[in-house]
Amino acid sequence: METVKGKPYFCNVKDRLEQFKYLDKDLSCEILIIGAGIDGAIANYFLSKKHNVVLVDKNKIGFGCTSCATALLEYQLDEFASDLKKELTQEQIVDVYKMGQDSIKKIEEFVKRHGNNCFFKKRPTFLYTNSVFEKNKIIKEFNFRKQNGFKCKLITSDNNPFPFEVKAGILCEDGGCEFNPYSFTKQMIENSSNANKIFENTIIEEIIQDKNKLVAITNFGYKIFCNKIIIATGFNWEVVKKDNLCDRFITYSIVTEPIKDFKYYKSCLVHDNKSPYHYLRTLPDGRLIFGGEDTVFNKNKAINYKLAQKKYIKLEKDLKKLFPEIKDKIKVSNSFCGLFGTTDNNLGIIGKSQIDNIFYFISCGSNGIINAMFGVDLLEDIFNNKENKLETIFSPLR
Ligand SMILES: Cc1cc2nc3c(=O)[nH]c(=O)nc-3n(C[C@H](O)[C@H](O)[C@H](O)COP(=O)(O)OP(=O)(O)OC[C@H]3O[C@@H](n4cnc5c(N)ncnc54)[C@H](O)[C@@H]3O)c2cc1C
Repeated sequence: METVKGKPYFCNVKDRLEQFKYLDKDLSCEILIIGAGIDGAIANYFLSKKHNVVLVDKNKIGFGCTSCATALLEYQLDEFASDLKKELTQEQIVDVYKMGQDSIKKIEEFVKRHGNNCFFKKRPTFLYTNSVFEKNKIIKEFNFRKQNGFKCKLITSDNNPFPFEVKAGILCEDGGCEFNPYSFTKQMIENSSNANKIFENTIIEEIIQDKNKLVAITNFGYKIFCNKIIIATGFNWEVVKKDNLCDRFITYSIVTEPIKDFKYYKSCLVHDNKSPYHYLRTLPDGRLIFGGEDTVFNKNKAINYKLAQKKYIKLEKDLKKLFPEIKDKIKVSNSFCGLFGTTDNNLGIIGKSQIDNIFYFISCGSNGIINAMFGVDLLEDIFNNKENKLETIFSPLR
């Protein structure tokens, strides 16, 4: 199933991963990870330190949805705490926000350790509305964060540092970070402890049980015997489950040519609260990325090219409205779209599947990457039968 369309920006770098060969023999291992997008790469990096891990991808590493993730990495979720209260307790929401902050620190530690080859940068985050009707909702969310010890500032029209209209917004000076998701995936792979056990162009077509082992069978008929399988296939989970695991949407993005002499407040990661919503970030060479306009994905209709073209035009118009002073300088260099998943509680699908020893590791929502950074610890705890308070809220069986 096609998960990406258009001209993704992020894998268009000079410094690409060297190609790994396809699997051409039977193998045994402790853990098999299926899928080497950013999620599979994160799981592989951490788990291969302690376990005998094999990682396979049916195509090129990092060329699935990872190639078009705009990588606004924030501790906040897509929905407000007040909306999440239907699904999560107040304590759980606070835990999840803290988990987001810890994930950002973990990314920072990785970059400190292995070098910043993925254009990592810490950034403030800004969630805002320009509608009077939504103002109170933002203020409520601000109060929730303040009461629970998260540092943030309420922005209104009186103290607005942005060039666009803001009725109310939450500015978190240390709320997020950004990177190139392809380059980060590459760095994760290059610094893993199992380089000789990573295979590209290797499709897992079937998983069967053989005595007390799981056996994954590739498109060339080779077998991987293992104790555990991690499904990190992104939104192509059909190898283990034919029906829906979460709702799937398509999100659309445009990238501009570099814009000279233009900056907005600290190159913040910006989200509006419209329906459909929009997101904005910068790139180191002065480009802007603007996206959103999500639509429901219909599996039978695949990604609709004509609809995508309309969405790119709409995004360009909206971006020009946001920054009228540079509207003549805004020229789109890349437009692309891809699948992402959403769940009722905004969290990823991480944990035990319906089949013994098969685990899902699928990031959902617009901060899925943040979930994945933290999700490996959750997986380890589940492997070790250690209690983890996040297990039930990330459980694929929830
Ligand atoms: C336009 C856009 C913007 C986004 N912005 C953000 C953002 O700002 N922040 C954020 O956190 N997230 C964002 N996301 C979501 C983010 O892209 C995903 O959470 C993330 O890329 C998922 O990574 P993944 O590794 O699970 O999936 P993928 O990158 O799709 O990787 C899955 C891999 O599995 C392989 N595979 C599938 N089936 C098999 C099989 N049977 N055998 C072997 N291999 C298989 C595929 O080839 C693929 O490489 C965005 C998504 C889109 C589309």
